[in-house]
Order: sequence, then C-alpha cells, then structure tokens
Amino acid sequence: MNRYTESDERRALRREVAKLAGTYGREWFTRKARAGEKTTELWLEIGRAGYLGVNIPEEYGGGGGGIGDVAAVCEELAAQGCPLLLMVVSPAICGTIISRFGTDEQKRRWLPGIADGTGTMAFAITEPDAGINTHNITTSARREPATDAGLEAGWVLNGRKIFISGIDEADHVLVVARTEDAATGQVKPVLFVVPTDADGLEARPIPMEIVSPEQQFQVFLDDVRLPADALVGDESGGLAQLFAGLNPERIMAASFSTGLARFALDRAAAYARQRTVFRGPIGTHQAIAHPLAQSKIEIELARLMTQKAAALCDAGDDAGAGEAANIAKYAAAEAACDAVDRAVQTHGGNGITQEYGMAGLLVATRAGRIAPISREMILNFVAMHSLGLPKSY
Ligand SMILES: Cc1cc2nc3c(=O)[nH]c(=O)nc-3n(C[C@H](O)[C@H](O)[C@H](O)COP(=O)(O)OP(=O)(O)OC[C@H]3O[C@@H](n4cnc5c(N)ncnc54)[C@H](O)[C@@H]3O)c2cc1C
Repeated sequence: MNRYTESDERRALRREVAKLAGTYGREWFTRKARAGEKTTELWLEIGRAGYLGVNIPEEYGGGGGGIGDVAAVCEELAAQGCPLLLMVVSPAICGTIISRFGTDEQKRRWLPGIADGTGTMAFAITEPDAGINTHNITTSARREPATDAGLEAGWVLNGRKIFISGIDEADHVLVVARTEDAATGQVKPVLFVVPTDADGLEARPIPMEIVSPEQQFQVFLDDVRLPADALVGDESGGLAQLFAGLNPERIMAASFSTGLARFALDRAAAYARQRTVFRGPIGTHQAIAHPLAQSKIEIELARLMTQKAAALCDAGDDAGAGEAANIAKYAAAEAACDAVDRAVQTHGGNGITQEYGMAGLLVATRAGRIAPISREMILNFVAMHSLGLPKSY
C-alpha cells in the first residue's frame, strides 16, 4: 500500500457497501421518495451490517473506525443512487460529539442506537433569523430548579430552528442553544440531546424540491424541559464541542456530493456509449466526451481532498483537517453540480424524464452548494485562514 491508496480494509468496506446498496438501487430509492415513504429498511440494514456506526467506538456498539470509514460508506451509498443525508447528521456529527464529549452514561445511552440505526439522532443548529451566522442563534437554555411538584432540576429550552433534516425519523435531536456567561455576558453555545417527542417540541415539514425520502423541518421549542444530564459536554466549553462536529460534517457532505457525482457520471457515460443518432455513439463527439472527462477529473480531485481531510481528522489534526475539509466540501459540491448538469445534457430529452432520473439529482446536488455550509462561507474561510486576508464579515 502506498500513501495514495486506501487500505485493503477501506476498499473492502466500499465494495461491501456498494454491493448492499446495489440490491436496493436508484429506482427503489426514487420510488420511495416520490411516494413520500422512508428508506428505513436500507438504514437499518446498513446499521445491522455495522456500516452506519463504523466510526463509533467499539465499546459502544460501533466499528471503532474513523470519519474516513463512515465517509466511504456515505459515498458508496450515494454512488449507487441511494444517498442517505442522515448519515451526515446522526453517526458523523452527533456520534462524533457524543463520543468525544459525552459522559460514559450518555455514550452508553445514545451511541449504540446511533451505530445500529435504531436510535437515529438529528442535529439542529440553523435558525430562521441567524441563518449561516450561527453566532447569532437565539435559542436559549435556562437553568431550572427542582419544583415542588417533583420535577428534577434541569434546563428549559426556547427557540426556533429551520431546515432540520430527518427529525421525523429520529428519536432524539442534538440542539445547539445558547446560555449567557454570568461574568462576561458573552453568548456561549451549549448542546442538548432532546427527545423528539418532548412536550413543547413541534416539527413542521418544509415542502422542498429535493427528490429525497429525507425531509426538512421547522422546529419549535416552547418551554421544553430537560433533565440536567441532557447537556452534552461542558457548559462553558460548548464551542470546542460544536467545532468537533464540523469537520466530520463537511467531510461527510463532500462524500455525499462525490457519491452522487459518480452516480450521475456513470449513468451519463453508459448512455453516451450506446446512444446513436448520427454516425457512432454520441460519446464519439468531443462535445459530449470532454465535459464528462472533465467531471471525472473534478470528482477524483474532490475525492482525494476528502480523503486527505478525513485522514487529518482521524489523526487528530483538527486545524489541518479544517482547511482540507472546507476545500473538499467546496470542490465536491462544485464537481457534483457540474457532473449532474452534464449528465442531464448527455441524456438529451431523456435527461429530464423521471424514467432516467437525472434531473431529479439537480436540486440534491445544488443543495451541496448551500448546506451545511455555503460556498461563500468556505471562500470566506479560505480567504481569511489560508490566504491571511482580512475578515470580510
Ligand atoms: C437540504 C438541507 C438540509 C439541511 N439540514 C440541516 C440540518 O439537519 N440541521 C441544521 O441545523 N441545518 C440544516 N440545514 C440548514 C443549512 O445549514 C443552511 O441552509 C445553511 O447554513 C445556509 O443558511 P441559510 O439557508 O439561512 O442562508 P443565509 O444565511 O440566509 O444565506 C443566504 C446566502 O447569503 C450568503 N451569505 C451570507 N452571509 C455571507 C457573507 N458574509 N459573505 C458571503 N455570502 C454570504 C450565503 O452563502 C447564502 O448563499 C439544511 C439545509 C438544506 C438546504
């Protein structure tokens, strides 16, 4: 093995996941999405097989691997046309934060379900007014003393979240709220695991144009009362805990994009090899072949950077991983948008039929330029941190 080849174990993992996802396939996935149904069978099957929680510590029911492993699973599912967005959230963001900062009791309570898919956890940071400027979130956490009526001391959450993926499929949601530092008055982020059936929590679906079984929701938190041990990590160190989830989030989002890009490109190349309208298949024409070759190059570059980011993250180099994960996420989203657009064009009219399913990928890949962090904010990050330019926002 050399430095640029993944380990035999990782490659075997990719093959096994691709095989399993291939038994479901794009047509099954799209049918489920259009019927408003869920893809729970696939979620639970990858959970049972140990792929969903491959990055969760072994002692809590996981595979003991790293972000690079779970990112490979995410990519291979998408490359078979079965992208599972909740992988970004449940095992990668929530699983990483709880593994790193949860108490033993919290790890025992939540990680096994995250690992085998029976206890999925959503993640809620975005708010309607704060948008991508998460420093401005207003969801508040207030300490609450024990009551005479017998309620234990704990916390009360109030606020509103938006675009929260898959809360209807999750038992819990990891909510980012804020408390005020008593000494300085500065806002500190704090994280709470909230049961999705808690009194005072309401989720309303947002009609989206994405062809996906996983939906986005507005979430209302009105006087949601939580026990003291719902708080994950240190009350005063919330920023470090939150940041621990960000590199995995970006690496997973990049893998989601490169997987979808590979899927679209494979279908486009197959179509270009067989579709004939003048002399020879349309792939003979460089106007068709070159854009597809360009996509191959862009996807491979994005994959390489994603693997680098994952390797740095798994080696504990959070700063190095931060730059690489942002670059990977940017490159992967761009590669995916372009690959799908070219795949649609290659298919001609068939590119926008439901039968061929290419146009249905346009919005899913386009979302990669916006979420979980937008391309503009990545450019801001690179300008500032990689190039030393003044902060622009
Ligand atoms: C499919 C999908 C799933 C999602 N899932 C989740 C989830 O599970 N949990 C969760 O918490 N959130 C989730 N989100 C929310 C996502 O993280 C946000 O949409 C994203 O952070 C952008 O925030 P916004 O939509 O409010 O855009 P805004 O913050 O309103 O930004 C609008 C535009 O302005 C640009 N902009 C803003 N400020 C600047 C600046 N200083 N410089 C340059 N450009 C700027 C942005 O880049 C963007 O293009 C999801 C979103 C989508 C689309």
